[in-house]
Amino acid sequence: MYNQFMIQDILPKKFKNEYKRVLPEPRDIVLAFRGREVLCALGDNGAVGFPRAEEIKIDKNKLIYLFEIDEDRFFLVNIDYSFDEQNISENKNPEKFYQYEDIRVLRKANPGYLCYAGMTAYHLYMWYRDNKFCGRCGKNTEIYDVERALKCPVCGNIIYPKIAPAVIVGVTNGTKILMTRYAGRPYKGNALIAGFCEIGETAEDTVRREVLEEVGVRVKNIRYFGSQPWGFDSNLLLGYFCELDGSDEIKLDKNELAIAEWVERHDIGEEAKNLSLTGTMMMYFKENPAFFS
Ligand SMILES: [Zn+2]
Repeated sequence: MYNQFMIQDILPKKFKNEYKRVLPEPRDIVLAFRGREVLCALGDNGAVGFPRAEEIKIDKNKLIYLFEIDEDRFFLVNIDYSFDEQNISENKNPEKFYQYEDIRVLRKANPGYLCYAGMTAYHLYMWYRDNKFCGRCGKNTEIYDVERALKCPVCGNIIYPKIAPAVIVGVTNGTKILMTRYAGRPYKGNALIAGFCEIGETAEDTVRREVLEEVGVRVKNIRYFGSQPWGFDSNLLLGYFCELDGSDEIKLDKNELAIAEWVERHDIGEEAKNLSLTGTMMMYFKENPAFFS
């Protein structure tokens, strides 16, 4: 079986995400975001480093505990805090220069566990940022100290982190798989059919609906493959393979996709070897013909 690492595969390191209300220690790692940027230092080959609490000037009460990976504890700069490069302490190590970088620097997963931590922290950052006010009564929310949640002190509304489930679909047709490219998005590489689960649907319903909407074909034998947390877009991705049922004629939804085409197994390129569930599914199809026969 083809064994490809995905961004969440950080073994032997262990991710521990139970919530604690604790203040940071000097050696704890601090994650600060600004829009789709993360505060970090880039080393050789794009290696990402985040500042330790002792390296930045910040009121420690403004840091929210996130999670641990092995002995490293990660904290988020509270979004209410006006934080920029000026808050970084005078650096003892001149090789470390922290500045805001596009979060795509985390896609290189160098080192893997730090980039996975950065992606997961970004998911939490987006949720804290977007829930400053209670959606029920409009008052300011507060950090709930019992579990990972925000609480409205006026009406008691408790708000839990938001995860958006979405499917990734590998539609196979004998020795071919359906590959797509999105219209009007920065990522230009090959992709598989993908889409958000709508309220009231099973994930399998989503698979059938998205394939029909985006390329106009029908599918059968839907089989679950695996999942991936994808904090860059607040997703939990659910991967499915399915087989073409009936005509292979593609009727493209041009609002969604620029290209959709049947690609032979042997034409799948090495570029699919990346940290995504999509790439892992492409490589699985390429290297495990017996599974699909
Ligand atoms: Zn409220």
